[in-house]
Amino acid sequence: MSVLVLGGAGYIGSHAVYQLIDQSEDVIVVDNLETGHKEAVHPKAIFYEGDIRHIEFLRTVFKKESIDAVLHFAANSLVGESVEKPLKYFENNVYGTQILLQVLTEFKVKNMIFSSTAATYGEPVSVPIKETMPTNPTSPYGETKRMMEKIMKWTEQAHGIQYVSLRYFNVAGARESAEIGEDHRPETHLVPILLQTALGRRPHIIMFGEDYDTPDGTCIRDYIHVEDLIDAHLLALKYLREGGKSTILNLGSNRGFSVKEMIEAARRITGREIPVKNGPRRAGDPSILIASSEKARHVLGWNPTRTSVSKMIQDAWNWHSTHPKGYEKDV
Ligand code: UDP
Repeated sequence: MSVLVLGGAGYIGSHAVYQLIDQSEDVIVVDNLETGHKEAVHPKAIFYEGDIRHIEFLRTVFKKESIDAVLHFAANSLVGESVEKPLKYFENNVYGTQILLQVLTEFKVKNMIFSSTAATYGEPVSVPIKETMPTNPTSPYGETKRMMEKIMKWTEQAHGIQYVSLRYFNVAGARESAEIGEDHRPETHLVPILLQTALGRRPHIIMFGEDYDTPDGTCIRDYIHVEDLIDAHLLALKYLREGGKSTILNLGSNRGFSVKEMIEAARRITGREIPVKNGPRRAGDPSILIASSEKARHVLGWNPTRTSVSKMIQDAWNWHSTHPKGYEKDV
C-alpha cells in the first residue's frame, strides 16, 4: 500500500516525503505547484501534478494507485493574504478538503493525517496552550483549518475516516543533509528571512514591534524543527494503521524564543551581519505562542530530538547557503 502526500512539493510536505521514503514507504505525491517546487519532490516518489479541488483528477489517482493513508498538506497558508483574500482560502482549503474527503469515502480510505495550525487558537487565554483550550481564530487562514477539523470530525462519524490533526507551532529548519529546504514566494517567515538577509538577498530584516508585553518587548514563538515535526506525522501514521482513534495534537517544543533572541542566534550561527530595522507590529500577531505538546508525547510516544534553536537555524543555513537562490536558478 502507498501513502498519498497532498502538497508534497511544499516545504513541510517535501520533508514528509523524504522521511517516508527513508522508512521504505511507497509514496505518491499530488501537488498543483502553485506554491510548491517540482525540484523538492523526492525522485523516488510517483508525482501527479494536479489540484485536489478537481474531483476527477483525484479519482484518477486513487484508481491507479493503491492508497491506504493520506497526509494532507495542500493548502494556502499565509495569514496576511487570507485576511485580504478570504474566499481564496475557503475555496482552496475548505472546499479542497471536502472534495478529498468525498474521494476518500468513495475509495474507502480510512486514515488521514491533517496539517493544522496554532492559528486555530487565535489569541491564547494562557500559555502553554493545550488542545482543550478554546479556538477563536483571528484570521481566515486559522478559521479554514478549524473548519476542516470540524468537517473531518463529522465525516469520521458518518464514514469512519480516522484522522490525526496536528496543530503546528513555528516550523523551521531543513533536512539535515540539505537536499531540501524552505523556499516560499513571497517569504514571510522569520528564519528564512533572517538567512536571506545573512546572504545579502535582503538589505535588512524588519522587526515587527518592540512594545509587546514580553521581557525584551518582541514576540515569543515556539519553534520546532521540521524533521521532528515530520517524525510526529510518521508516528501518527503508525497510530492510525494500528487502529488509533481520531485526535487533535499540538506540535511544538514547549519553549519560547523572542524575535530578538532569534536574530542573535542567526547572527551567531551564520557569522554574518544581519541588519535590523524596527517596524510597527504586524496585524494579528499574538504576543506569545507556546505549545503544550504533552498530549502528542503521550498519545504518539513522540520525542523531538532536534529541539535547540541553534540546530534548527544551522540546518536551515546549510540549505540556504548551498541554495542561495532557493529552488530556482534565476531568482
Ligand atoms: N517577524 C518579524 N519580521 C519578519 C518576519 C517575522 O519580526 O520579517 C516576527 C513575527 O512578527 C513573529 C515572529 O517573527 O513574531 C515569527 O513570525 P513568522 O511569520 O515566522 O511566524 P508566525 O508566528 O507568524 O506563524
